[in-house]
Amino acid sequence: MQSFKGVDYLLIDTQFNEQELLVRQTARQFVDDRLMPVIRDCFRDARFPTELIPELGRLGFLGANLEGYGCAGMSNVEYGLIMQELERGDSGLRSFVSVQGALVMYPILSYGSEEQKQKWLPQLQSGAVLGCFGLTEPGFGSNPAGMLTTAKKQSECWVLNGEKTWITNGTAAQVAVVWARTEDGIRGFLVEKGTPGYTTSDIHGKWSMRASVTSSLSFADCRIPASNMLPGAKGLKAPLSCLSQARYGIGWGAIGAAMDCYETARQYSIVRKQFDDRPIASHQLVQEKLAWMITEITKAQLLALQVGRLKDQRKVEAAHISMLKRNNVAIALDTSRLARDLLGANGITDEYPVMRHLCNLETVKTYEGTDHIHALVIGERVTGIAAYK
Ligand SMILES: Cc1cc2nc3c(=O)[nH]c(=O)nc-3n(C[C@H](O)[C@H](O)[C@H](O)COP(=O)(O)OP(=O)(O)OC[C@H]3O[C@@H](n4cnc5c(N)ncnc54)[C@H](O)[C@@H]3O)c2cc1C
Repeated sequence: MQSFKGVDYLLIDTQFNEQELLVRQTARQFVDDRLMPVIRDCFRDARFPTELIPELGRLGFLGANLEGYGCAGMSNVEYGLIMQELERGDSGLRSFVSVQGALVMYPILSYGSEEQKQKWLPQLQSGAVLGCFGLTEPGFGSNPAGMLTTAKKQSECWVLNGEKTWITNGTAAQVAVVWARTEDGIRGFLVEKGTPGYTTSDIHGKWSMRASVTSSLSFADCRIPASNMLPGAKGLKAPLSCLSQARYGIGWGAIGAAMDCYETARQYSIVRKQFDDRPIASHQLVQEKLAWMITEITKAQLLALQVGRLKDQRKVEAAHISMLKRNNVAIALDTSRLARDLLGANGITDEYPVMRHLCNLETVKTYEGTDHIHALVIGERVTGIAAYK
């Protein structure tokens, strides 16, 4: 398997310190050695490579930028570089790591009781236990504030009723972070697999994120102990803060998918010959596409680095992360489409990674706040006027 050399047009590597480059190299090699040999078949077979989970834990990639309870305590830039490399492999692998770290471990660490942290975080970090994050409902995606799932207090229990859908890792997870409406507003709950009244089922027929488990969760008079509520999570801002963590990782991850598509197209265009035995790379229209891709990838790298540095300095705002997620996913999707074009008919096969990235990126554009919703967040940030309704 050929090792990935990276894409660095503007010498941006000079902006990373030794530790950051070492973390990136570790993630890069993991993807080259462990994911690349299996990902094509995983995507074909609609299978997540669960055999890689213990190694993700050992390398410190699960909850990598969190502190304590066995977490690696990496910087946000180091974490971003891990996400970039994982998504160069496949968006499904990066999604798995995003959900486990940003959407399950982060809320437990930020809003959980000491007992909840002790119980869950070390096992989630090692990958011994998997988690999922249930916010979206059949009728409420972009507008989670409308959620219908309820939690009612009955003596020492909470009783949950409702349905969540499009939940990554839902059937695989031993613990679900579930957001529900209470008399006191929206609150977060930890629901353990096997709890009576809690059932899960997988969503089939996806042409995107095939190497990722996506599920529906159902709660029918599901009784959980009162101690399973996250005490610090009050209101919608709690799940939104988790989404900000995950979107930050997506902003970096999308660069990885774009790099893989660009590099595949660049190499192909030099080798592929048409018209008088000339490489297609010698045509101006082909070079214009490659020039567009490398320019946009370079801008995306600079955007990710700046947002990462702001996050490490605790100066980042949710609206900064919206720009990162929206821009980088959009350019990655456009890059994958241009790369598919440059590969001609070969571009539609899974002999090359491009069509797989393209299909995955359609999901990445939609989840964690659609492209439109992030445009509205940016619009609100610069005008002071919310235009969601
Ligand atoms: C593979 C996959 C994995 C996922 N994993 C998870 C998970 O782990 N946990 C979880 O909770 N959710 C998850 N999701 C759900 C995801 O977050 C939602 O799909 C997303 O929030 C969009 O919601 P929706 O699909 O209901 O689309 P809708 O909200 O119905 O939007 C449809 C279209 O309308 C547009 N639109 C909606 N409102 C506005 C507006 N005000 N202004 C302009 N345009 C608007 C949208 O931008 C979009 O183009 C996942 C989704 C997928 C596909």
